[in-house]
Amino acid sequence: MRLIFIGPPGSGKGTQAKLLGKRLGLLHFATGDVLRQAIEQDTPEGRLAKPYITAGRLVPDDVVNQIVSARFRSPNRPERFVLDGYPRTLAQAFAFDALLNEVGLDLTSVVLLQVDDDEIVRRLSDRWTCPALTCQATFQTNSKPPRIPGKCDVCQTPLHQRDDDKPETIRARLRVFHDLHDAILKHYAAQNRVVEIPGRGDIETIYENILRGLRQKVSA
Ligand SMILES: [Zn+2]
Repeated sequence: MRLIFIGPPGSGKGTQAKLLGKRLGLLHFATGDVLRQAIEQDTPEGRLAKPYITAGRLVPDDVVNQIVSARFRSPNRPERFVLDGYPRTLAQAFAFDALLNEVGLDLTSVVLLQVDDDEIVRRLSDRWTCPALTCQATFQTNSKPPRIPGKCDVCQTPLHQRDDDKPETIRARLRVFHDLHDAILKHYAAQNRVVEIPGRGDIETIYENILRGLRQKVSA
């Protein structure tokens, strides 16, 4: 099985990609980890990526492509994998297609963990934080609400929402996600490789749905 795994922030994508890797014996290939590894091992590609990571900037397409390509050309190249975080641009998708073609591997499917934007905003904007510097307790309105609404259990300070947890920040992240991934999904849909899985329910339910979706796709 060779998979690309795509899902918006807050969809549980990372959790499911790791589970698939562990249970199906696929290499869980997370771009962040691969980049860090290349830098640690001080490979030529790692040296190219390092200044961007250090500055907290996005590593350019061609550098990411080179790192992935080096990994797939190495003697211990991944034969069965689930990619998590790559390709993240259409240019990366084209480069990856060419790479697989060159090394003679076939992509099985592209899994899209589908969760509506409104649901993501509900999930991720759930967190409230105590602004008192000595406290900083966090609460979740659904799963771990404060005893008195809007007030910290520990010190009674009115709770506030961090910028990262605010609906407008989450919507901005979702816009970036769609800008990048809608094109990638269209690209793979044209190859008839996309399997769309509803990202609802608990971890095991979603996992079962993914397996069922993949089985149907492979046998079709
Ligand atoms: Zn507090």
